[in-house]
Amino acid sequence: MPHSSAHSARALRDAIANGQLTAEAACQAALDRIAARDPELHAFHTVFAERALERARALDRSTGPRGPLHGVPIALKDNITVAGTVTTAGSKMLATYRPPYDATVVERLEAAGAIVIGKTICDEFSMGSSTENCAFGPSRNPWNPDRAPGGSSGGSAVAVAAGMTPLALGSDTGGSIRQPAAFCGVVGLKPTYGRVSRYGLIAYASSLDQIGPFATTVRDAALCLDVISGPDPKDSTAAAVEPPKFEAALTGDIAGLRVGVPRGWLREGVDTEVMARFEESLATLERLGAVVSEIELPHSRVAVPVYYLVATAEASANLARFDGVRYGYRAPDARDLGEMYDRTRDQGFGPEVKRRIMLGTYVLSAGYYDAYYVKAQQVRTLIRRDFDEAFADVDVVATPTTPTAAFPLGALRDDPLKMYLADTFTVSAPLAGLPAISVPCGWTDDRLPVGLQLTGRAWDEATILRVADAFERTRH
Ligand code: GLN
Repeated sequence: MPHSSAHSARALRDAIANGQLTAEAACQAALDRIAARDPELHAFHTVFAERALERARALDRSTGPRGPLHGVPIALKDNITVAGTVTTAGSKMLATYRPPYDATVVERLEAAGAIVIGKTICDEFSMGSSTENCAFGPSRNPWNPDRAPGGSSGGSAVAVAAGMTPLALGSDTGGSIRQPAAFCGVVGLKPTYGRVSRYGLIAYASSLDQIGPFATTVRDAALCLDVISGPDPKDSTAAAVEPPKFEAALTGDIAGLRVGVPRGWLREGVDTEVMARFEESLATLERLGAVVSEIELPHSRVAVPVYYLVATAEASANLARFDGVRYGYRAPDARDLGEMYDRTRDQGFGPEVKRRIMLGTYVLSAGYYDAYYVKAQQVRTLIRRDFDEAFADVDVVATPTTPTAAFPLGALRDDPLKMYLADTFTVSAPLAGLPAISVPCGWTDDRLPVGLQLTGRAWDEATILRVADAFERTRH
């Protein structure tokens, strides 16, 4: 069955440090678990068994200081570059692309002793909520293989939920870490915009994208954020703000903490079982000493349309680079350059990516720019201001992570608008640049996990991690 905190990254690191286990044995155990579970769940696109085992042996031989993730296997969403290994972003366009450089997060993880074990299935260029838009997918939900794992970072959520690796990285633009975390019953954190370097992350929507961890415990997510966060000369959008020690913030004490609940927004249509788990979670937070009150986030009700204008506009610009000339797929047999561009993009991109490029190009075009793109940016500002006002009175905002638990694979594939509504509660935080976490908060009657989402002030991951950790302790 899926995870337990006995398989936490910390427990594993400590077992290796105490000599109970070698890094090689930990790595082999992860590879064995992948061999046993992945044929059914398909979390991984590639597994680097040899590279990982070699690295584990080197760690076992080393006598130098041990990093905070010494010997811990980790999986990466397949839109994060690892030098010399295939990085596809879930697209046929990049099916054979081998980047010549490591992402900054990869450098930092490896410097901390983590072992990158493979790359996980994701929706093509991170566009989707189920991994069904992946050219090599989908992954399956470990709690019920007929259900979607969520997306776009679905494979990473599955890897952690099924106990294949204790940690994984994903990227979140409109919910792609938090929604699959909720669907798979694990912790998922989207940090503040600018907290984690995106050098080596294949861009989807540059004003929103952020890398963050999946873990079985809040403490592991904090530990991982401690390793990957902080300024980076290679990414000017990684803010020059020294992060605090996130793990040290997990005191277990939330007495007096103010939790805001945007009841008006929740009336948008939340499944009754999800709503019941949410109300129980609020009662738990109150028992822990938190003070729950109602707040207003009036403009978040239109966050989904705002997101799908801003994100597609940015995607249409970011994806212009895939033209068959510089890297990636090139259509054969074109008679001239124009035809080569056309055919390459027609054959290389899947239908959802094409839909978004067309929508994004449309909203940026003369005549529609003011009506759609500029208007969306204006409403985005109003969404952010609502949060600023709310945070004058409360310390965190609580909502369900998703309006429903995991939907069946195939159920929304032909209805993109319904699929977009899976993002109802997750798109506001990235639009406002804020950190948000999804922590497991219970089950539906048919044993599917439900997630509680906590959104914090910019740069204040410490508070949402502290609340999520205190909440999680009541559940073990
Ligand atoms: N599901 C959303 C989308 O399709 C969010 C994706 C993401 O965060 N990358 O765009």
